Amino acid sequence: MVLAQGVRKSFGAHEVLKGIDLEVGNGQVMCFLGPSGSGKSTFLRCMNRLETIDAGRIRVGGELVGYKEKNGRLHHLTEAEQARQRRDIGMVFQRFNLFAHMSALENVMEAPLRVLKRPKAEVRERAQAALERVGLTGHERKYPAQLSGGQQQRVAIARALAMEPKLMLFDEPTSALDPELVGEVLDVMRGLASTGMTMIVVTHEMEFAKDVGDELVFMDGGLIVERGTPREVLENPRHERTQRFLRATS
Ligand code: ATP
Ligand code: MG
Repeated sequence: MVLAQGVRKSFGAHEVLKGIDLEVGNGQVMCFLGPSGSGKSTFLRCMNRLETIDAGRIRVGGELVGYKEKNGRLHHLTEAEQARQRRDIGMVFQRFNLFAHMSALENVMEAPLRVLKRPKAEVRERAQAALERVGLTGHERKYPAQLSGGQQQRVAIARALAMEPKLMLFDEPTSALDPELVGEVLDVMRGLASTGMTMIVVTHEMEFAKDVGDELVFMDGGLIVERGTPREVLENPRHERTQRFLRATS
């Protein structure tokens, strides 16, 4: 589903990604762990082209991100083609970024109505189904301010699902939540993984990574330092940098 090769990205003189290679199979859950500033968010943002890359290539679902290949040459996608490509990738952030003036249902309906331009009745039905998937049936008419942090994050997940993505990116989806609300969001993500959704998850929730992750990548200084099954990496890290990080966070 995802194939990244030699991905490099700099901001000015600061090289933040120094050649990332990664493969994520269909239906796999790939967890990302690493210190602050190691480039995890930047890499996710490159995957749906919220950032451009300086070298390397990224494929999602067989398509080259940001480019099309014609007669053996690469051409930049037009804005419209780029937007279409981005629709296949759902993203959930640490902050929920819901529209405060819209109800939960309206938040979930917004993109399918505006972007996909589907009929309203159909969009409503799908949005209700997406809210059901995240356990929020009965909360459709509430506004973000009337929902807990965990509920808001579940609306954000439903909003991404309503676009029927092929791939879901999660960037520390539970880091901004009160501890008692973390579990409900992880449960929704666990359920999503069990339906075969391909997911890349930046998280410090080690138990989640062990239960749900097929693989775990440890990033430091813009490089993938180590990868393996979550158990291997978390319980038996091979690299000194991984060991040091895990000691400091446990
Ligand atoms: P955290 O765990 O704190 O979320 P991260 O691993 O997600 O960290 P990134 O957000 O990818 O790290 O940032 C990697 C580096 O790139 C940091 O040094 C950051 O300051 C820098 N950076 C990120 N975005 C930009 C930008 N738009 N302009 C300049 N520098 C940036
Ligand atoms: Mg980050």
